Amino acid sequence: MKKLMGICVFCGSSEGSDPAYLQAANTLGRLIGESGSRLIYGGASIGLMGEVARSALAAGGEVVGVIPQFLRAREIELASLTELVVTPDMHERKNRMHSLADAFVVLPGGLGTLEEVLEAMTWAQLGLHKKPVVFVNTKGFWDPLFATFNRVGSHNFARYGLHELYSIVSRPEDVLPAIMNAQNQAAE
Ligand code: AMP
Repeated sequence: MKKLMGICVFCGSSEGSDPAYLQAANTLGRLIGESGSRLIYGGASIGLMGEVARSALAAGGEVVGVIPQFLRAREIELASLTELVVTPDMHERKNRMHSLADAFVVLPGGLGTLEEVLEAMTWAQLGLHKKPVVFVNTKGFWDPLFATFNRVGSHNFARYGLHELYSIVSRPEDVLPAIMNAQNQAAE
């Protein structure tokens, strides 16, 4: 049987200030569900995290939530998940999410989202994986982060340019093509 592509989504456990963020989460979840890929995420029922997962499930997709035991009360895992993986701690949560993922997608979010995507990017920079990282830059939310990445590169704090570590799309509709594109480039 063909292995489903695991798409790991990092995003806020809050909904953010603009309804466009929730809309982007909803559309991304639906598209992942419809594509027959498997959504991997942090397991929560709240914020953008809950929205992307509910939407993927509603579209008939498989959704794997990975949540550490101590967060189950705070982030309240989604009851309808295809599979719930409960980990002893945050480190194991990220290990499991990484091993299940073939690509990482980032929606707007907070410190947790930043921490998760920066780890995926630093590991790619060290050559530990070649999995694509795609930012959904809804309403320019991540622009200041990209400016920081550019600054890191232009001030010679990245041995190779950081641009090859990620791609940017403005609409969730462009995420799956961007993943395919990055996978093809990595294979060359
Ligand atoms: P946030 O972007 O802060 O709303 O958090 C999004 C998700 O990232 C939530 O599931 C958090 O539990 C998770 N998170 C928070 N801190 C960390 C961390 N240090 N490492 C990995 N995930 C985290």
